[in-house]
Amino acid sequence: MHELSIVQSMMKIVEKASQGKEVKKLVVKIGKMSGIEPHFLKESFDFFKEGTVCETAEMEIIEVDVRIKCFGCGNESDIKGFDFHCPVCGSEKTKIIAGEEMHIEYIEVKE
Ligand SMILES: [Zn+2]
Repeated sequence: MHELSIVQSMMKIVEKASQGKEVKKLVVKIGKMSGIEPHFLKESFDFFKEGTVCETAEMEIIEVDVRIKCFGCGNESDIKGFDFHCPVCGSEKTKIIAGEEMHIEYIEVKE
């Protein structure tokens, strides 16, 4: 499972960033094109957090819509599903500019 290794490397980042303090909340941004299943990511997180600074932390996931830029008309649009045609002019010459990312947005530590 892909998500397990993601959580593992995420934990390393969080442990460093929290400087050993107990983490209260962890907010993660996941693009809808990133190939990561939010549900599995949460499960993996709950599995891994025992005995770490995240033991009592809650994970919040923000899903990022897929956004494309059209080379035809220059418009940027959010798209639903997997139709990458420009919704403005119908061109298929588009580029994905958001929705493939996955990163930690912020962490909240207990003071
Ligand atoms: Zn267009």
